[in-house]
Amino acid sequence: TDNSLPASLTLSVIGTISSCYPDKFGIPRQPALAPSATATLNLKAPFDHPDAVRGLEKFSHLWLSFLFHRSPERWTPLVRPPRLGGNTRIGVFASRSTHRPNRLGLSLVELVDIDTESGVQLRLRAHDLVDGTPVVDIKPYLPWADHVEQARGGYAADTPTLLPVDFTRDAEQQLATHPEAEVLGSLIREVLAQDPRPAYRRLRKDERRYGVRLHDVDVRFHVESDEPQARVIVDALV
Ligand code: SAM
Repeated sequence: TDNSLPASLTLSVIGTISSCYPDKFGIPRQPALAPSATATLNLKAPFDHPDAVRGLEKFSHLWLSFLFHRSPERWTPLVRPPRLGGNTRIGVFASRSTHRPNRLGLSLVELVDIDTESGVQLRLRAHDLVDGTPVVDIKPYLPWADHVEQARGGYAADTPTLLPVDFTRDAEQQLATHPEAEVLGSLIREVLAQDPRPAYRRLRKDERRYGVRLHDVDVRFHVESDEPQARVIVDALV
């Protein structure tokens, strides 16, 4: 056998994600931040054999390895994580940045159920993947091995601060007419509480109106930065 290391390698896409996030803007930076986010992983031939997922249904959570296919291939050794305000630089390998060599992502997601009626579809929750994301591997999460009680979290040790989210009366009424009002309402709150605006916008008064697409809805919002605390206002659901 040839044991020489290849300088590059080819991965097979085992499936693609169909997601509640049509666009990158607004997607939380880690999956656990939006428990109401839903997705389906559709396995592709020849990986769509029911045998390949036999036993997986017993696990509540999965690791997905995927390609940041919507990020550029170019990368730099230093990146500016939004967590540090977008100005401080740290090493790309000390970050979860999407701009990295090989563009590989790793997300811990919740497995809802598996459908093997025709092909294989995994229904997922609490994820951070844009629609169309190519997946290259699945592994079950092992609590005894993957959970480290005393782990140090570096510059991102604590969960990010959340902003309160309020709906205008109009937005509230628009939400009420949506067939999935309850899940959509939770998802809107989870997504907007993270303040999806670019880091530099948070520093000063920001009159701008923004839009985040979730499922089939364009969620229009702005941020009121008056003291003592900023709040997100949902203006309309279009
Ligand atoms: N949990 C993964 C990890 O740690 O490798 C992803 C973390 S990354 C900071 C999360 C961001 O990736 C999301 O906010 C979203 O904007 C972006 N994203 C999700 N899917 C992507 C894709 N297929 N291509 C490029 N960017 C993507």
